[in-house]
Amino acid sequence: NLSDKLQNTLKKLRGKGKLTEKDIDVAMKEVKMSLLEADVNYKVVKTFINNVKERSLGHEVMESLTPGQQVVKIVHDELMKIMGEAESKLKFNPNDITYFMMCGLQGAGKTTATGKLAKKLKKDGKRPLLVACDIYRPAAIKQLEVVGASVDVPVFAMGDKVSPVTIAKEAMKHALKHGNDVVIIDTAGRLHIDDDLMNELVQIKEEVKPDEILLLLDAMTGQDAVKVAETFNKYLEITGVILTKIDGDARGGAALSIRNVVDKPIKFVSVGEKMDQIEPFYPDRMASRILGMGDVLSIIEKAQGAFDEKQALELQKKLKTQEFNLEDFLSQLQQMKNMGPLDDILEMIPGLGGNKKLKGLKVDENEMKRTEAIIQSMTKRERLNPTIINGSRRKRIAAGSGTSVQKVNQLLKQYDEMKKMMKKFSSMEKMGKKKGGMG
Ligand code: GDP
Ligand code: MG
Repeated sequence: NLSDKLQNTLKKLRGKGKLTEKDIDVAMKEVKMSLLEADVNYKVVKTFINNVKERSLGHEVMESLTPGQQVVKIVHDELMKIMGEAESKLKFNPNDITYFMMCGLQGAGKTTATGKLAKKLKKDGKRPLLVACDIYRPAAIKQLEVVGASVDVPVFAMGDKVSPVTIAKEAMKHALKHGNDVVIIDTAGRLHIDDDLMNELVQIKEEVKPDEILLLLDAMTGQDAVKVAETFNKYLEITGVILTKIDGDARGGAALSIRNVVDKPIKFVSVGEKMDQIEPFYPDRMASRILGMGDVLSIIEKAQGAFDEKQALELQKKLKTQEFNLEDFLSQLQQMKNMGPLDDILEMIPGLGGNKKLKGLKVDENEMKRTEAIIQSMTKRERLNPTIINGSRRKRIAAGSGTSVQKVNQLLKQYDEMKKMMKKFSSMEKMGKKKGGMG
């Protein structure tokens, strides 16, 4: 995939003390191939390569970096640039009800993202209403109702015998009557773009005059996603893109082309099927992700959403002094339960994505109870200083918690792994600060 290829190419450069023009030429040829293979738009690639070459040969000097690292940094900067430089927020109507219209092909992730946005908005104190305008896909209305219920947000539906434009119109009245301040309209998609679909969407748009028309694009479809964006934009003049399924293999390609082709910002990325798996789109993070430098900032932000800030600070202090003990481990696990699957988080840390021991660490309810029981069966001294937990202590803890020595061993091993991860994480953070995110 794109990340692997770019990383390999850049690794070769990074190791070198001095770079010749030829080194850069060879590397840029490889980068170009990787980008084209990842379905990045040809024009984008050409501009990109030219800019990187020019800057690399122009000997931009930065004292803390070797020439190889500088090229990596330049590649990172230029990747960032082609994705657009700023984070984009959602636009709200300050005086009236805000309307968001979700559109895109069938299966792009509209209904899922509708629920995700609703959850976010609710957290921000809004009173969202979801509107079921997909009357074609079997069970689409039911799906939205299930999604709505799961995030505890009401859904307005009128069955599948009424036209979507009428449903939208009635939903506006309903929102006014019920005091909803943000209305998200989940529209129908098709397998392929057709005139009927486009006309229907245009009619809804004219009726509702949405504050945001968000196009859902499946990142897995690469260059096709870009074509879809072009067409939807032509008909609807979209206001932004939500890139979905970037948890899949093909992440990167589409993100790199969209800005250039439709000149509309990517506002969010969707990274999984669960309702909290949506993140603001940050070009710098996406560039880091593509270059496999670990999405440290993303992790920190995710953690902060779930953490009590004070607790986070305390933990950070502990990490710096490496005093991370089993009590911290337990509260860390509890926090992670709120953050979503651990695998996602590991994915984002370089060198840890493939960590099998931690991958097995599921943070589900039962596991959590068992972990709690085990840690609670330890003495205070053992919790604060786990190295003293020898064989006989393990036996006692197993008996006390109603588990087995094997389970206790497993937990201690996971604690060790977590400690290592934390150590790596905090040193990475320091390095990131010193070198402006690059190392
Ligand atoms: P719609 O037809 O555009 O409304 O698409 P849906 O919201 O029904 O999503 C289609 C499928 O893609 C469902 O199985 C979703 O669970 C799944 N899906 C949506 N977003 C993501 C994502 O970011 N990652 C992954 N892995 N699956 C997703
Ligand atoms: Mg749908």
